[in-house]
Amino acid sequence: LEDDEMETSDVQIFYQEDPEFQNLSQNSCPPSEVSRNNLDRPLKARSYQLELALPAKEGKNTIICAPTGCGKTFVSLLICDHHLKKFPQGQNGKVVFFANQIPVYEQQKSAYSEYFERYGYRVAGISGATAENVPVAQIVENSDIIILTPQILVNNLKNGTIPSLSVFTLMIFDECHNTSKQHPYNMIMFNYLDQKLGGSSDPLPQVVGLTASVGVGDAKNTDEAIDYICKLCASLDATVLATVKDNLEELEEIVYKPQKFFRKVESRTTDKFKCIVSQLMRQTESMAKSIYEEFENLSQIRNREFGTQKYEQWIVAVQKACVVFQMQDKDEESRICKALFLYTSHLRKYNDALIINEHARMKDALDYLKDFFSQVRAAGFNEIEQDLTRRFDEKLQELESISVDPSNENPKLKDLCFILQEEYHLNPESRTILFVKTRALVDALKKWIEENSKLSFLKPGTLTGRGKTDQNIGMTLPAQKCVLDTFRTNGDNKILIATSVADEGIDIAQCNLVILYEYVGNVIKMIQTRGRGRARGSKCILLTSNAYVIEKEKINMYKEKMMNDSILSLQRWDEEVFKEKILQIQMNEKFIRDSQEKAKPVLDKENKKLLCRKCKALACYTADIRVVEECHYTVIGDAFKECFVSKKHPKAKKFGNFEKRAKIYCAGQDCNHDWGIHVKYKAFEIPVIKIESFVVEDIATGIQTLYSKWKDFHFEKIPFDPAEMSR
Ligand SMILES: [Zn+2]
Repeated sequence: LEDDEMETSDVQIFYQEDPEFQNLSQNSCPPSEVSRNNLDRPLKARSYQLELALPAKEGKNTIICAPTGCGKTFVSLLICDHHLKKFPQGQNGKVVFFANQIPVYEQQKSAYSEYFERYGYRVAGISGATAENVPVAQIVENSDIIILTPQILVNNLKNGTIPSLSVFTLMIFDECHNTSKQHPYNMIMFNYLDQKLGGSSDPLPQVVGLTASVGVGDAKNTDEAIDYICKLCASLDATVLATVKDNLEELEEIVYKPQKFFRKVESRTTDKFKCIVSQLMRQTESMAKSIYEEFENLSQIRNREFGTQKYEQWIVAVQKACVVFQMQDKDEESRICKALFLYTSHLRKYNDALIINEHARMKDALDYLKDFFSQVRAAGFNEIEQDLTRRFDEKLQELESISVDPSNENPKLKDLCFILQEEYHLNPESRTILFVKTRALVDALKKWIEENSKLSFLKPGTLTGRGKTDQNIGMTLPAQKCVLDTFRTNGDNKILIATSVADEGIDIAQCNLVILYEYVGNVIKMIQTRGRGRARGSKCILLTSNAYVIEKEKINMYKEKMMNDSILSLQRWDEEVFKEKILQIQMNEKFIRDSQEKAKPVLDKENKKLLCRKCKALACYTADIRVVEECHYTVIGDAFKECFVSKKHPKAKKFGNFEKRAKIYCAGQDCNHDWGIHVKYKAFEIPVIKIESFVVEDIATGIQTLYSKWKDFHFEKIPFDPAEMSR
């Protein structure tokens, strides 16, 4: 549960739809086999696809909103085709297509290449992986269609390699609902709108956006939803929202909406495991309190309960507060900080275990704790750790016997088992995807299925996100692809257990049963999860013991209805009136942007100390920090070299001019806190540190501040100078 999935509150998440390559060919072959035959004869468009393409073909800036799986990629091909052919002799169009994620980028690039290269158009692509060493300006100059990840264009507009968006005649944004806040799509559109509103006479490209769902934000009624959608249209300078209206019947033939079911299940009535672990947690809390009386008050979060996400938040807040707390006696301060760090880490693991116990078997929760304690034994194992381990060991026997007692079985799992048995009895060929909240639960449910004689025939596969966290390295893209290939080609593999990974733009094979196990998301996410059960007769079942979760999902459905109603009502507006409204929003937003621009943060030139966030040892001074390529931070001078130890990196890797060689850790006694990495940069071996591993202390006042991102820390940032290194 260290997972990023748990802490999404202040993280901006961008969603995208499945790549739709397969739908181009109207059959279900994997992409590699799809199109050789189709290359000779042009694909035939369906009526609803022609309907969706129409306003954009007329040259209007359009947002195309149509369900997942209906072939929006093909609609964009039709628009692009029409656009390039309409230019008179001697003039040429130039199209740019944006894709957010590498897998989507790859699929779009091959779709566009296959479709257009036979007509003699030049198709090229630049992604984050290739951008380093290619002449971007030249590729743009020499191609008719360019597929890009959007950050590439943002960078090249910023450094002037591409002087203006006027080089393009058409821009297509895949998953265009992401055009908001600081997303690269919006940065591109800021540039566009500055040119539009700044009175430049250079022609601007036509803009087309593709999405399954425009979203409604926090709207509580249709008026607010309309405002939200208008704002999205303004961001993309769109004057038309295209949806399928005349050919709905045909669309519904192709895109089947799975039926949605809600199943409220019961939790255990008595939970001895929870009693014992809660008691251990109370003990640990009071031990922390005895070493530092104010422990309880280190966080503002009140009414915490064991085994909840709120407790998780509380413990994270306490951990952060522990780090900045100060005493006269620095040795004493270090001792207390270290102790509190250990107590809170243990509390966090106990809390994780309670959550696992809540949703899976007691055995899984207990295994999780046993794993943790054996890691503790294998590492430093100081006095406090020994004490905590002894207290756990005292209860271990009792926990073991409770966890094997059949009367303590989790009723939720019985329900899940029943549903799976029923579905596979009806249709032995069923393919299921089971969504759960955390990685720990993915592992627990996999084991449960494998060890359950009624379900072991399902041979579960697992899929987790690429996101990295403190203790977990996410699944890599090749590993994810391997799992998906197996799921697609191996019929024995009947169920895939996944976290929110499906939001990472991966093409999941057709499945007819989607089970959401205590899993909720926003409206865009809901529509997309549903898009995954494409086969006719497919079902989506939400299983939860929490009435609030069902309530929340019903709100999501209400939001979807609100969104559809709002789009319908906007489509009835007079086009000129709509244009006027959009222009007003654009001018307002530009005004706000420009005024924020002026209010740059004040630079603080005072020299400051960086202390290890765990043991508070002095690491370095801000005056010794140098910035490499604008976003990486290193420390110069020999003094710093004594402060850390390095260990060979398990995944040595090159990125840009950097070669990741080692991880670095605090050299303070028993500390080993993760400080960052050691890299080879051009001719130099340098450390690269992350600010979230340190506490910043003002030398004069002693005030301490925590930052999680360098960009929030406004000190005098001196660029890295190779000459300085050779002195
Ligand atoms: Zn340290």
